[in-house]
Amino acid sequence: MDAVSIKYLLVGVVVFGFLFEKSLSFLNSRRNVPAIPKTLDQYLDEKKLKNAKLYQKANFNFGLISGTFSFILTILMICFGVFGWIDESLREYIENPLLLSLIYFAVIFIGSDLISIPFDYYHTFRIEEHFGFNKSNRATFFTDKLKGYLLSIVVGGGLLALLLWLIHQIGKDFWWQFWILASIFMVFVNLFYTAWILPIFNKLTPLQSGELKEKLIAYIAKVNFPLENLFVIDGSKRSSKANAFFSGFGKRKKVVLYDTLIEQHTPDEIVAVLAHEVGHYKKKHILIGMLSGVIQVGILLFILSQFIHSQNMSMALGGSEMAIHLNIIGFTMLFSPISMILGIFMNMISRKHEFEADAYAKETFAGEPLAEALKTLSINSLSNINPHPWYVFVNYSHPPLIERLKKLEG
Ligand SMILES: [Zn+2]
Repeated sequence: MDAVSIKYLLVGVVVFGFLFEKSLSFLNSRRNVPAIPKTLDQYLDEKKLKNAKLYQKANFNFGLISGTFSFILTILMICFGVFGWIDESLREYIENPLLLSLIYFAVIFIGSDLISIPFDYYHTFRIEEHFGFNKSNRATFFTDKLKGYLLSIVVGGGLLALLLWLIHQIGKDFWWQFWILASIFMVFVNLFYTAWILPIFNKLTPLQSGELKEKLIAYIAKVNFPLENLFVIDGSKRSSKANAFFSGFGKRKKVVLYDTLIEQHTPDEIVAVLAHEVGHYKKKHILIGMLSGVIQVGILLFILSQFIHSQNMSMALGGSEMAIHLNIIGFTMLFSPISMILGIFMNMISRKHEFEADAYAKETFAGEPLAEALKTLSINSLSNINPHPWYVFVNYSHPPLIERLKKLEG
């Protein structure tokens, strides 16, 4: 394919992705709630429902504006060959091709992040603030940004340097060698996430003794699920939204509860949430998730290896000669429809897993407290209780609340 056709193809893919995503969000934003479902009438009234609708509308508008902005910017950059122009400008100062690629990505990363800061700021301090979710202040916001940068430079930059080095050293076969290294890295991140990465942003403290801890320990003993630790993190530092998650495997299993979860729920509800997480583990969802992640990365790298030395791809982005970094940028755009299809597939599996974890919690503990917990979580975070089914099909990693309640309460 010649450079001009690739350029049109890139524009086509970006336009299609934008229109597809925005039309689904539009359909979703137009859905109303005909009547409050009976199972929620203790939790929801007309006033709360209206507030949730306003929140969803604010988010839809925000997504429309920020999405349109970055869409137009991307199209302009492709049409006017800005990606190639940056490459040529850097070439005047940098000889070494590996260093050139690294600096190129740093420029693109910093540029796009600087553009996104005003949007993030508006989202946190206007929208989330207005609806009472935001608990963070300017200092936390900007130190988070700074820490994020450092983490990206160390981890992202390190991985990228390794990838580029392999491409330069061994050519097309880089894909399976990097695949092995990236897979090992993914396992490590999963094992050490709570020990190394989470503490950069949050304070972790072991769960205090008391009724909750006793109940949690009694439950994990009953289902024979040895845990290294039960932690609480200060999620309330940033947001009033609650959460719980699970990390690691084997002897390094850890459960992390948000302090906001502990504040807003009864001990039985929290045990039920833990039981759901244990269900994910026992039903091998963690392992399946990790394996499918590894397979996805393999597919991505293999396709990348087919483009990596394409002269025409670099030219399509406005370059004057072949550049690995231009080809990687072009590839990420071309790959987006494939990654969307993979994403839909992953979401289907994930929704199935959520039902299975719910069923496990119901079987080994009780369905009712989990249902109560889900209702509180969903209503407090102003979630959409009647999402459009197409939107759910494409974007939801968890089944909609009402479907989960049907199975838990049925
Ligand atoms: Zn789950």
